[in-house]
Amino acid sequence: MIAVQGFEGQSVAVLGLGRSGLATARALAAGGAQVLAWDDGAEARARAGAEGFSLRDPGRAGAFDDVAALIVSPGIAHLYPAPHPAITAALRAGVPVDNDVGLFFRSFATDDWDGFDQAPKVVAVTGSNGKSTTTALIHHVLAFAGRPVQMGGNIGTGVLSLEPGVDGGVVVLELSSYQTELARALTPDIAVFTNLSPDHLDRHGGLGGYFAAKRRLFAEGGPDRAIIGVDEVEGLFLAGQMAEGRGDDRVIRISCTQKPGGPGWSVFARKGFLAEWRNGRQAAACDLRAVRGLPGAHNHQNACAAWAVCRTLGLAPKLIEAAFHSFAGLPHRSQIVAEAGGVVFVNDSKATNVDSAAQALRAFPRIRWIAGGLGKDGGIAPLASDLGAVAKAYLIGHSARDFALQLGATPCDICETMDIAVTRAAADAEPGDTVLLAPAAASFDQYRDFEARGDDFIAQVRRVLAAPGVS
Ligand code: ADP
Repeated sequence: MIAVQGFEGQSVAVLGLGRSGLATARALAAGGAQVLAWDDGAEARARAGAEGFSLRDPGRAGAFDDVAALIVSPGIAHLYPAPHPAITAALRAGVPVDNDVGLFFRSFATDDWDGFDQAPKVVAVTGSNGKSTTTALIHHVLAFAGRPVQMGGNIGTGVLSLEPGVDGGVVVLELSSYQTELARALTPDIAVFTNLSPDHLDRHGGLGGYFAAKRRLFAEGGPDRAIIGVDEVEGLFLAGQMAEGRGDDRVIRISCTQKPGGPGWSVFARKGFLAEWRNGRQAAACDLRAVRGLPGAHNHQNACAAWAVCRTLGLAPKLIEAAFHSFAGLPHRSQIVAEAGGVVFVNDSKATNVDSAAQALRAFPRIRWIAGGLGKDGGIAPLASDLGAVAKAYLIGHSARDFALQLGATPCDICETMDIAVTRAAADAEPGDTVLLAPAAASFDQYRDFEARGDDFIAQVRRVLAAPGVS
């Protein structure tokens, strides 16, 4: 745990007592703060009370009179569509509002570091898609290289539940736009921006607000290195703003479509080959086509970002390439779950929107596509130009019929449920086909979350492959 510094003997209010809220309360208490906890849910309050935290209703008059800061959980709206009333009350009382990420950055460095040969470094990854994969890949490569490394934030362990930094250690954080928007301190050594596509717009008042939230990681943080995906105008603009001049190699440009121009430092992937350019010449290259855990151009973008981070940290190209080959991928993101009779079964249940589904549909040559669930506004209409590799769609869930109407000439089968979809897709599949779950929809109509949906896909694949007569 990271004990929070700077609030010794002061009262700090914590709003939201889920997993990260409780971890925040514990880290504040460990640093000597007096925690005043609150959650709108009685059960969460009871859990915090049972752990010995004092409860204080932020709605009561004068609730913030003696409070030094209000720390808010990421699930609670702080600005749009409307701030939680406790946040408005705190702001009216002049109380600073922060989150666990802000507390982490103000508390991570300690006096022990004076005795270290190499101060710990923090890498922070943000962007619309690919954050988790990029974060996990960086963690994997550094662990492979024998560096002491921890991973957390929006993936796995909450930031304040990480262990204190060690000599030569690296912490890799995945940060969401909610987290970067609210954090009062944001000082990573290396900051990564993967890409931008519309998401969470209700929480940010539109695309401009969403981009501004992510951009804070660079504008406020002033990282030593900014690694930026330049395939959208927002990333291109940000990279331009961060660079002091054409050859400024504090900015590393990433692309999965083309070679970024100019004499600066760049890492890009084209047709499955990654190339690193610096000072106008190629510094290193890597064949990504044979890297099983990173299929498709979208994963090659993640590979470029991870490559740039690891190069910045001093790792050799050969070592990074070897580490890529042992990356298993993350569950539910382009995850190969089985192979039988020349047919590959891929679980991309995390493809909950059309952008991520489009990436998956571009990654495999001939696809039996399992899609559907709780579709988003506009359904799958934006995927019309990405259906070329789809031999047939097997549709499930609430949006199955709507999706069928938007498929044009692509053959489809309304299957309703995962078991039927997997059974039919596997029966139709020919050698060379990929049976791909990339729903382009949320899971909540049939499942608790996208993980449960992906687990069901895996279970159905196993069932079908275990059936007599299937090789
Ligand atoms: P995040 O943490 O940003 O949600 P993930 O790594 O969990 O990102 O991937 C989310 C979804 O987006 C998955 O369906 C994955 O296959 C897809 N994806 C992964 N990387 C990228 C990328 N660079 N660009 C677009 N889509 C991606």
